[in-house]
Amino acid sequence: MNEKNWKYIKKLPQKDQDLIDQIVELKKSRNVLLLAHNYQRESVQLIADILGDSLAMARSAQKEKDAKYILVCGVKFMAETASILNQDKKIIFPEKSSICSMAEYVDAEKIKKYKENNPNVPVILYINSTAESKTQADVVCTSSNAIIIAKAMKKEFNSDKIGFSPDKNLGRYVAEKTGIPTDIIPKEGNCYVHNQYNIEHLNRAKQKLPEGKLLAHPESPKEILDKAHFIGSTSQIIKYTKQHPEIKKIIIGTENGIVDLLSREYPDKTIIPLCEDAICKGMKQITLKSILNALKNLDAGEYRIKVDKWIADKSIDAINKMMELSKTIK
Ligand code: SF4
Repeated sequence: MNEKNWKYIKKLPQKDQDLIDQIVELKKSRNVLLLAHNYQRESVQLIADILGDSLAMARSAQKEKDAKYILVCGVKFMAETASILNQDKKIIFPEKSSICSMAEYVDAEKIKKYKENNPNVPVILYINSTAESKTQADVVCTSSNAIIIAKAMKKEFNSDKIGFSPDKNLGRYVAEKTGIPTDIIPKEGNCYVHNQYNIEHLNRAKQKLPEGKLLAHPESPKEILDKAHFIGSTSQIIKYTKQHPEIKKIIIGTENGIVDLLSREYPDKTIIPLCEDAICKGMKQITLKSILNALKNLDAGEYRIKVDKWIADKSIDAINKMMELSKTIK
């Protein structure tokens, strides 16, 4: 956990500070590594040992050797990915109801069918998918590395197109940036948090912050991305903000956890959300209380996630291929 966060923790309500004291104590005494996604509640962001996007979380889970338990504060596919990448480690997931609705758009059968109908076309599966779906993918990607991976897979398969699943907006963006014809599996897959954005949201945000630069996630629709000053994953948006101290007014076109995170890091900037409702309900299921409950019951099994061995063994190749192809991304 980042020691500098104590100054922010001291501003939280006393009941949250009391919960955090207990969590920090248990985390240390039970040797638990806490991974959290950037979309988590601010109180959870503050106690994370590693705070990042899906790629950063997967990398940390894969290389972790010392911790006895890895506690994942994110949505279910993130805990499953940690389990696949570190099969000997105990993966703890504090809230089973914390799911990504986008992951439900596709299953292993749909990908298998696409591959039967399109032999020799690589299928790139967004990491926001179930462990079972990953057993059928040629490679997994995140929003940080989707473009690099699409180009590499087209070359490797010597194919004139790619299959991309399940996000229609990210798939369309990848097709536009790479020029590679792309089949989206299924056509309607999307993230409800980002897919809701429209020009009205942007007009309203611009009224509030006329000089605000829009930094948007590629899960957003084309009409929003066309107006964006910068497009990137959550980590790339954070990095871009850091690298541009001259940009003082920012409109965030991704889940509002990033607004909390950036406002905390850059108090000299005015940072507003593109839409007040851009909140991922799945991510927000996890609370300090649910983390504490999980920490008190680490060995009870109730909070444990373990992907079936046959699924883990079959899906790990697609994840490892992503890791290999995206080595250059810091
Ligand atoms: S923000 Fe969207 S894609 Fe991300 S976890 Fe939530 S539902 Fe899934």
